[in-house]
Amino acid sequence: MNKKSIRTLSSLTQNDLVKKSDLSTLQKVVENFSISITDQMHQLIDKSDPDDPIAKQFVPHIKELNISPIEHTDPIGDDIHTTVKGVIHRYPDRCLFVPLHVCPVYCRFCFRKEKVGTPSETLTSEELENAFTYINDHQEIWEVIMTGGDPLILKPTLLKKFIDRLNAIDHVEVIRIHTRVPIVESVRINAEMVTALKCDKPVYVLLHANHPKEFTKDAIKACAALVDAGIPMLSQTTLLKNLNDDIETLSALMRCFIKNRIKPYYLHHGDLAKGTEHFRTSIAEGQRLMKQLRGRFSGMCQPTYVLDIPGGHGKVPIGPSYIQMDNRDADIHNEAHYCVEDYRGGTHHYP
Ligand SMILES: *Cc1c(COP(=O)(O)O)cnc(C)c1O
Ligand code: SF4
Repeated sequence: MNKKSIRTLSSLTQNDLVKKSDLSTLQKVVENFSISITDQMHQLIDKSDPDDPIAKQFVPHIKELNISPIEHTDPIGDDIHTTVKGVIHRYPDRCLFVPLHVCPVYCRFCFRKEKVGTPSETLTSEELENAFTYINDHQEIWEVIMTGGDPLILKPTLLKKFIDRLNAIDHVEVIRIHTRVPIVESVRINAEMVTALKCDKPVYVLLHANHPKEFTKDAIKACAALVDAGIPMLSQTTLLKNLNDDIETLSALMRCFIKNRIKPYYLHHGDLAKGTEHFRTSIAEGQRLMKQLRGRFSGMCQPTYVLDIPGGHGKVPIGPSYIQMDNRDADIHNEAHYCVEDYRGGTHHYP
């Protein structure tokens, strides 16, 4: 049904996406992490722009071979929380369910780049049964997050089977799906897919998008089809150096989400995945951007800036903080005061 995705170095060169002189070095990059660029994303690339934000996300780069000593193969500690194959249970009330490790595109900065792109990691029917048994046996699991890989590249009939299985588990009250499909391969969001996503329980779709340019007519239509069907959408974005780490781009992206009825949820600080240093900003830079968003852009346009703590300790908001304890002039009862900062940077006393 779809035009072919670019999946090899030779098709990258044929399409003028990489220089021939880089080929032998890129061969090493591709050994570690597959290539995939959907036709929809390929069409969006402006080949005359060396800083094209779409190309930067998906076209392999020789800088991926620079591995910094602080980078890891498992940057957010997925492995220690993998309870049975395909289930990552790190927080008490929710778990990830990862039926496949295939994505429509391979984002060069992916935090799971050591795992995704390996079709052999797809769960067998026995492994699937074990995963459902685990979820069924753990009453505390209130929410199941289907991720991967990208669950929306499954055939709607198979996706429906998975959703039906989760729907049948009483204590699972919410199903969430993490995806890039509505944007990178919009054609998959057809009537059959929308029907597959509907069940008795709330199914939330969390869309990963990093640049306003991704919101093409087709992408907008695909998101509208989901929201019109009553599927709430949230967003996640990775903060990427020289791609969306300026206030114009970041605010335009957040406004795109809101205009498309998608509530900004997370802005991820870049994880310490191997070979991704050229994508990472500093935390101070991220906090500065968040300060620029606050107050100047609608409250609805504010994501939470989060860091996934290396080692599997979970995601936490990393500011900026607008409030500080101020003990300097503790009152006669010796009670501390707060010093609160407004969005313009003015500071105020709060008793
Ligand atoms: C990110 C993540 C979640 C979801 O976290 P929320 O803060 O609820 O969005 C759940 N489990 C794991 C292992 C995760 O990495
Ligand atoms: S779509 Fe998500 S899981 Fe897949 S490569 Fe991109 S960031 Fe990684």
